[in-house]
Amino acid sequence: MIDPSTVLRQGLLGLSRSKQVRQVIENAPVSRDVVRRFVAGVGTDECLSAVTDLLHGGRLATIDFLGEDTTDQSHAAYTRDAYLTLLTALSDAGLTADGKAEVSVKLSAVGQSLPQDGEQIALDNARQICEAAKAAGTTVTIDMEDHTTTDSTLGIVRELRADFPWVGAVLQAYLHRTEADCRDFATEGSRIRLCKGAYKEPESVAYQDKIEVDKSYVRCLKVLMEGAGYPMVASHDPRLIEIAGSLADKNLREAGSFEFQMLFGIRPDEQQRLAAAGHQMRVYVPYGDEWYGYLMRRMAERPANTMFFMRALASK
Ligand code: FAD
Repeated sequence: MIDPSTVLRQGLLGLSRSKQVRQVIENAPVSRDVVRRFVAGVGTDECLSAVTDLLHGGRLATIDFLGEDTTDQSHAAYTRDAYLTLLTALSDAGLTADGKAEVSVKLSAVGQSLPQDGEQIALDNARQICEAAKAAGTTVTIDMEDHTTTDSTLGIVRELRADFPWVGAVLQAYLHRTEADCRDFATEGSRIRLCKGAYKEPESVAYQDKIEVDKSYVRCLKVLMEGAGYPMVASHDPRLIEIAGSLADKNLREAGSFEFQMLFGIRPDEQQRLAAAGHQMRVYVPYGDEWYGYLMRRMAERPANTMFFMRALASK
């Protein structure tokens, strides 16, 4: 029998790429209020204020200027410039010391999917963002998008690492290939964020069953925790968080040699608990007005998130 939550998830992930639905939802008056639960704000000031609160509370931050699938070069440059402005503002506010606040970048937002020279444009833009991060004394993590971009993204990460060895990459446990990618990347100095994966992917490349995804996550986590790199455990899943802690103990890893990561607005009490217990706890903070694709993926992950949105729509 088909699981209704799987149908809902696949449907919402399909809609996350629909331009028509995007326009309707973005223009609904309620949307901006609801979005506030998962997005730190539209402007740099709101983002800075959210990040300041997190850092004062003992958490770390990685900031995403929202946007993806850029279709023209000037928009890719606009996104790059937004990151450059953000990094200067974070540094001026003293938030980048010791890499406490860093940035996360989607390569499709800085040009990767442009039909001509997309990869080169994305690499050039990402390189400028890395230069600015270096000047600010912090790091950059390159987000991972759908499986058609995995090879290109990992290729760009490798090129960036030649000049900026601290550039982080993301691997998605739902892809069949990821355990092998973890082995390749679990090397000295390598920062790897392991997540389950948030896109609609075909059976030919990805596990479809949640239990299979979780099993793959544990296998990948073992490789990363046993390796020489710096694992970044990106999940809200209580069981995986517990397993990550046990694997860290088993491999004699100290608290500063790996970190937990969660999304802004999701399980904030657990974020505080982990930080208070002495763990590195980094929060992924999205901001900006292009929140549609991000919000749809959050709704696809959890029916409760969808109900929250529907109730807010109905109450208007
Ligand atoms: P799920 O299977 O969604 O949830 C497992 C359990 O976690 C639930 O049963 C529940 O107990 C708990 N839980 C989950 N959500 C909630 C909630 N709202 N409230 C209370 N409990 C909850 N994906 C990508 O594809 N590319 C990326 O670059 C990427 N970067 C990410 C960065 C970070 C820091 C994080 C945290 C996630 C990122 N993701 C990325 C998203 C990721 O792939 C998953 O889609 C997302 O994290 C949901 O998976 P989960 O591990 O939390 O488990």
